[in-house]
Amino acid sequence: MSTVTPEAHVRAISEIVERRNPNETEFLQAVHEVLDTLTPVLAEHPEFIEGDVLDRLVEPERLVMFRVPWVDDENRVRVNRGYRVQFNSALGPFKGGLRFHPSVNLSVVKFLGFEQIFKNALTGQRIGGGKGGADFDPRGRSDHEVMRFCQSYMTELYRYIGSQTDVPAGDIGVGGREIGYLFGQYRRLTNGHESGVLTGKGTGWGGAEVRTQATGYGAVFFAQEMLARTGDGLEGRRAIVSGSGNVAIYVIEKVSQSGGRAITASDSSGYVVDEQGIDVELLKQIKEVERGRISEYAERRPGSRYVAGGAVWEVPGDLAFPCATQNELGLEGARSLLDGGVRAVAEGANMPTTPEAVALLQQSGVLFAPGKAANAGGVATSALEMSQNASRDRWDFAQSEERLQRIMRDVHAASYDASERYGRPGDYVLGANAAGFVTVARAMLDQGV
Ligand code: GLU
Repeated sequence: MSTVTPEAHVRAISEIVERRNPNETEFLQAVHEVLDTLTPVLAEHPEFIEGDVLDRLVEPERLVMFRVPWVDDENRVRVNRGYRVQFNSALGPFKGGLRFHPSVNLSVVKFLGFEQIFKNALTGQRIGGGKGGADFDPRGRSDHEVMRFCQSYMTELYRYIGSQTDVPAGDIGVGGREIGYLFGQYRRLTNGHESGVLTGKGTGWGGAEVRTQATGYGAVFFAQEMLARTGDGLEGRRAIVSGSGNVAIYVIEKVSQSGGRAITASDSSGYVVDEQGIDVELLKQIKEVERGRISEYAERRPGSRYVAGGAVWEVPGDLAFPCATQNELGLEGARSLLDGGVRAVAEGANMPTTPEAVALLQQSGVLFAPGKAANAGGVATSALEMSQNASRDRWDFAQSEERLQRIMRDVHAASYDASERYGRPGDYVLGANAAGFVTVARAMLDQGV
C-alpha cells in the first residue's frame, strides 16, 4: 500500500508539471483544473497512485512541431509553425481537432490535447486524445492560399497520422473546406483513399451526417439534461451565446428548435443582440458562405443591434453558452451574467471560462457544464464517422442525431453520477474530470508502463 496521501501525490505531480512546462500558462491551467478535482478519486483508487498514472498522463506520448512553408498570392514565401500533440492513446487512436489561428502555440495545443483525453473518454467511444494546428491566420486569405497552406501542412503531418494511429478533425479555423484540402493531399501522398484518417469530411465522400452540427447541438442537449434534473427546461428561455463559428451557429439553431431564444452572437470585434432570436439562416449566410464579420448581421437584420467591443455577458439571459475561445469568460463576465439572472452555463468552446469565474458561478448556485462534457458531442460524432468509414456504412441524419442525443444523455449521466460518488452532487467539473480520468487510468494500468 502506498503511504503517500492523495493530496501529497497531487501536489508532487503539480510541481513536476510546473517544472517541466514553464510559461505554458494554458496548459498549466488545464492540468491544474483536472488535478484539483482528483483527490477524492485517488483516495478511492490507491492503485492509480501506485501505478503513477498521473505522472504519465500529464506527459504527451509524442509531440511534433514542424515548418509549414507556403507561397501566397503575391508569390511571397510564408512560413508558419505546425503542431500535433499525441497525448494519450490508451483508449484508441489519438483523436482531436486541428486549430488554425494566430494564437496557436505549444501551450495552447497541449492544453487542448490534454482536455481531449478526458472528453474523449467521457463519450464512451474508443478514442484517445490529441490535438494539433498551426499559427496560420486564415482571415483575409484567398481560397487558393488556404489550399496551399493545407497541402503544405499535410505534407509533413501525413507521416504521423492514420485511421488506426491518429485521426485529426476540425477546430477553430478548420472546417469542411480545410478538411477537404487536407484529405486531398493525404490521398495524393499515400496513394490510397483511407477515409478514416480524418473526420469532418464532406457528406458526399465519407463524412458523417450531423458532424457539422454535433458540437453545438450536443451542448444544447447537455444543457437540457442538466436543466431537466432540476425540473427546468429550455422552453421560453433566453440564451446568451458568444462566438459565431461552427459551435455557436448550431447552438443557436438547436436552442431555437427547442423552444428557446438565442439572442446574441459575437466575433473578436464585437457582438450583436437580436431580441427576436438570432436568424440562423442569415448568420450562416454571413459566416459560412460569405466568411464575413458579425457586424454585417446587424446591417441586414432590422431590429437587431451591433455593439463594437464589449462582451455578450452584459446582455441579461437565463442560459449562457460560451462558444468562442479559451478564457473568454472571466470574473467580470461572470458577475454580469449573475446580475442578468443566469441559471446555467454550458461551455461550447474549450476552457472558455477562467477558473475564478467557474468558482464564482458554482458558488452562486449556477449549473455549470464544463466543455469536456458539454462540447463532447463533436468528437463523439467524429467517432461515429470513424465507425461508418470502417464499415463502409452511412447513417441518415435522423439516426445520427438520435445517436448524438443518446451519447450526450450518457455523458451527462456519467458526469452527474461521478459528482455524486465523489461527494459533490451537481459539480459537473468534478464529475466530468473524475469519470473521464477513471476510464483512462484503468486502461493505462491494464496496458502496463
Ligand atoms: N475540435 C473538436 C473538439 O474540441 C472536435 C475534435 C474531433 O472531432 O476530433 O472536441
